Amino acid sequence: MSDVPPHGEADEIRRFWGRLGLPGLVDVHTHFMPERVLRKVWDYFDGVGPLTGGLEWPITYRRDEAERMALLRQFGVRAFTAMLYPHKPGMAPWLNGWAADFARRTPDCLHTSTLYPEPGVEAYVREAVEAGARVFKAHVQVGAYDPTDELLRPAWALLAEAGVPVVIHCGSGPARGKHTGPEPIARVLSAHPRLRLIVAHMGMPEYEDFLDLAERYEEVRLDTTMAFTDFAEELSPFPRRALPRLAALGDRILLGTDFPSIPYRYLHQLHALERLGLGDEWLRAVCHDNAARLFAL
Ligand SMILES: [Zn+2]
Repeated sequence: MSDVPPHGEADEIRRFWGRLGLPGLVDVHTHFMPERVLRKVWDYFDGVGPLTGGLEWPITYRRDEAERMALLRQFGVRAFTAMLYPHKPGMAPWLNGWAADFARRTPDCLHTSTLYPEPGVEAYVREAVEAGARVFKAHVQVGAYDPTDELLRPAWALLAEAGVPVVIHCGSGPARGKHTGPEPIARVLSAHPRLRLIVAHMGMPEYEDFLDLAERYEEVRLDTTMAFTDFAEELSPFPRRALPRLAALGDRILLGTDFPSIPYRYLHQLHALERLGLGDEWLRAVCHDNAARLFAL
C-alpha cells in the first residue's frame, strides 16, 4: 500500500470521481493548522497505541504544508477545510487568526474557525462569522469541555442563526472523553434545533445514537471521516443493520477524511465508502453534491 507513488494514487482518485461524473471531491474534514500545533498532533498519534489497543497510527501524509495542499489538488479535491481546535482557554482567537490568513492565501479552503467555552467566545465567533468563516470545528474530546456549557450557549445560538455548519468531534472514538457521546449533543440540539452540526467520524463508536439525532433534526449531518475503513472497522465496526439508515440519510452524509493525519491512503477512504454498496447516486451525493449544496460551491 505505502509503495504506491503519490501520482499513481492521484490518478486512481481522479478515476474514482470521474467515473461518477463528478467535477471533483469536496472534503469537509481535513486538517491544516499552525505547523508547530500539527507537529504536536502527529506526536500524539505517534504515541496513540495504548488508546487503540496497540494499533499503530502512522501518519501517511507527513509532508510540509505546500506539499499537502498540492496533493489535495492532485486528488481533485475542489474544496476542503482547515480543521483546527484548542485544548485550553485563550488559544481559539490565535488559531482563528491563523485560519483566516490560511483561507486568504488558499482559495480552495473553506474558511474555518474554532471555539472554546471561555469568556469572549461569543465575540470572537461573531467576528469570525463576519470575517467570512464558512465552517467551524469543535473538538469535545481534545477540548475536554461540556458542549452544554453556559458559556457556549450564545455562540451556538449565533451559529444556528447564521446557518454556519460546525464539524464536531463528539463521539467517544478513538478514546472516550469526559463529555463525549450523544447525550450532551442531544441537549445542545434541543436548545438549538436549527444548529447545523456535522457529527465527525459518523459519531464513532456511537454510530446509531448519532443517526438517531440526524433523523430527529434535519440540520444535523455526519461526516465519513475514517468510518468504514479497515482501520476503523477493526476498532469500532459500523453496525451492518444501520446501512439502510445511511441510505435514507444520503443527502446529509458528507465526505471527510482526516487528511493528512491518517494511517492509510486517501484512496482507501473512498473505497471504504464504495464497498458499502449503497450505489453511485449515494456516492455522488456524499463525495461532492451534499457539501457543494451546503457551502454553495
Ligand atoms: Zn479530524
